[in-house]
Amino acid sequence: MLNIVLFGPPGAGKGTQSEKLIAKYELAHLSTGDIFREHISRQTELGLKVKEYIDNGLLVPDEVTVGILKAAIESKAGTKGFIFDGFPRTVHQAEVLDEMLKSLNTKIHAVVALDVNEDELKKRIEIRRQTSGRADDDAEKVLKRIDEYFNKTIHVLPYYEAQGKAVKVQGIGDIETIFQAICTAIDSAK
Ligand code: AMP
Repeated sequence: MLNIVLFGPPGAGKGTQSEKLIAKYELAHLSTGDIFREHISRQTELGLKVKEYIDNGLLVPDEVTVGILKAAIESKAGTKGFIFDGFPRTVHQAEVLDEMLKSLNTKIHAVVALDVNEDELKKRIEIRRQTSGRADDDAEKVLKRIDEYFNKTIHVLPYYEAQGKAVKVQGIGDIETIFQAICTAIDSAK
C-alpha cells in the first residue's frame, strides 16, 4: 500500500491536490471533513453531534473523529492505499492512525505539508465561499478554523518530522507545478 497524508491549513489546496493524486496513484480518498458533511446532510446521529463544532470552525473532539476512522478505512478494503485529507489534525489522531495502519501491516509513507501564508488562505476561502455553500467558509468561522490549525493541528508536523516523513511543499503558485512537487516528494518516499 501507499499511504499519504496531505497536510495544511484550510484553503491550502488539499482538496484540489487530493483529486489529482487519487487519479495518478489510484488511491482511496479519506477526508474526515467530507464524511462529517455527509452525515450532517443525512441528519444522522453523528451528523447532529458534530454539526455545532463544524459550523463554528472548531475541531470535532478526538474520540468522535477517531471513532469514524476505522469504519472509513475498512469500507475501502482492497485499495492500493489512502490519501488522508484533513486527518490527522491532532497528535492523538496521528498516533491512532499509526496503530491502525500497523494492524494492517502498513504505514504512512509520506506527509506532504502544503505551505501557504495566512493572507493567501483568507483570500482563497473567500473565493470558495461564493460557491461552496459551507457555513464554515463564513469569514468569522474561517478565522476560527485557521486559529485551530495554528494552535492544535500544527503540532502534528513535528510528530511526523521525528519519523522523517514530513516534506514541505510550497503551496502558492500554479496548481500543476505544486502537483509535480508533491509527486516528487511521494515518489522519493515510496
Ligand atoms: P475540512 O473539510 O477538512 O476542512 O473539515 C471541515 C471541518 O470538519 C473542520 O473544520 C472540523 O470542524 C471538522 N473536521 C474534519 N476533520 C477533522 C479532524 N481530523 N479532526 C477534528 N475535526 C475535523
